[in-house]
Amino acid sequence: MSTSEREALDLDATDPGHRELFDVPPAQGGDYPEVAYFAGNSLGLRPKATRDELLEDLDAWAALGVEGHLDAARPWLPYHELLTAPAARLVGALPSETVVMNSLTVNLHLLMVSFYRPTRSRHRIVIEDSAFPSDSYAVRSQARFHGYDAEDAVIRLRPRPGEDSLRTSDVVEQLGGDVALVLLGGVNYLTGELMDIPTITKAGHLAGAVVGWDLAHAAGNVPLALHDWNVDFAAWCSYKYLNAGPGALAGAFVHERHLGADLPRFEGWWSTEAATRFEMKPEARPPATADAWQVSNPPIFSMSPVRTSLEIFDKIGIDVLRERSMRLTAYLEKQLAGMDVITPTDPARRGAQLSLRVQGAGEVSRRLRFEYGVIADAREPDVLRFAPVPLYSTYHDCWRAATALAEVMA
Ligand SMILES: *Cc1c(COP(=O)(O)O)cnc(C)c1O
Repeated sequence: MSTSEREALDLDATDPGHRELFDVPPAQGGDYPEVAYFAGNSLGLRPKATRDELLEDLDAWAALGVEGHLDAARPWLPYHELLTAPAARLVGALPSETVVMNSLTVNLHLLMVSFYRPTRSRHRIVIEDSAFPSDSYAVRSQARFHGYDAEDAVIRLRPRPGEDSLRTSDVVEQLGGDVALVLLGGVNYLTGELMDIPTITKAGHLAGAVVGWDLAHAAGNVPLALHDWNVDFAAWCSYKYLNAGPGALAGAFVHERHLGADLPRFEGWWSTEAATRFEMKPEARPPATADAWQVSNPPIFSMSPVRTSLEIFDKIGIDVLRERSMRLTAYLEKQLAGMDVITPTDPARRGAQLSLRVQGAGEVSRRLRFEYGVIADAREPDVLRFAPVPLYSTYHDCWRAATALAEVMA
């Protein structure tokens, strides 16, 4: 065993994560039985508890039929409320500002119904040029829905020539009086850049815009304080750092100052207050909480894994995870010395992700997987992403990734 491998194992002994709580897939190649998993920013691993707790909910249906709505150990009617407080704690929100529902892009649309209210003189939407395509399509379709030309309405922010990430000052300068909505990724999916959410939010408000955040890569990755930062609205998915499974239910945040306000919303029977829902009245009476943005009755068996996952975050704490995340990412960065890392080097400007510019990223990631058992994520044509996830990634995983990458690149 090399000195560097011994060193990685020593670090794992002194700074362990919580790998024992997760099922780590077997490797299909290389010298180790388990994969070194760096795709937790794409799909997090399954917590061991998820299976049993999902089966409990599933068996309540077998045992109770329709009576499970009230009589299940975790009754289905108020089930979504079990997720509200832990989700709120994770993103620094009040429970009244938080709801788990739908999927991410659907939530962005439902929130834009309320918060993208364009006028002829103020109808522009600001996003990053490297926004996730779903966000790009969503804002373009919103602009068109309101009768605007998407090319004209959507402003795409690009880093300065020769730079890979956006400077906060450059973002702020783009926020003119024609901007109706700023909708940025809290952590950029491609570069891993963590944006200065409070500063940009404040600047957007000064410019008279509404400021929403897509937290797909931020929730469960970095500590957030959505309420204190005065964010207008936000949405996030639960299958990346939140480990709630493929396509898992998403979260949504609406700031307290908008709750109970007379905003346009798309409504369904779950938009009405729970106490009178079953009076089956023709008009909704929405509660003054984020629950008013719900539309349909929620899928219990999809909420179950989110509940299990949020319990883990509650137990360990995002601040503790962030500390380990910074140590683990710094270690990986050191091991990758000499590679073209496009993620900011300042730990305060990134989460648990390092993106590398690598020619033939797709082929490199295939070789990493099948020859070394290292799971990274390629974004064609030339970006390779590694997410050392503080819950289950190890220093030894990082050592394996760096060693394998050096061999593949040689
Ligand atoms: C992962 C991700 C999505 C995915 O959208 P879904 O609606 O969950 O399919 C959207 N936006 C961003 C920024 C993402 O990272």
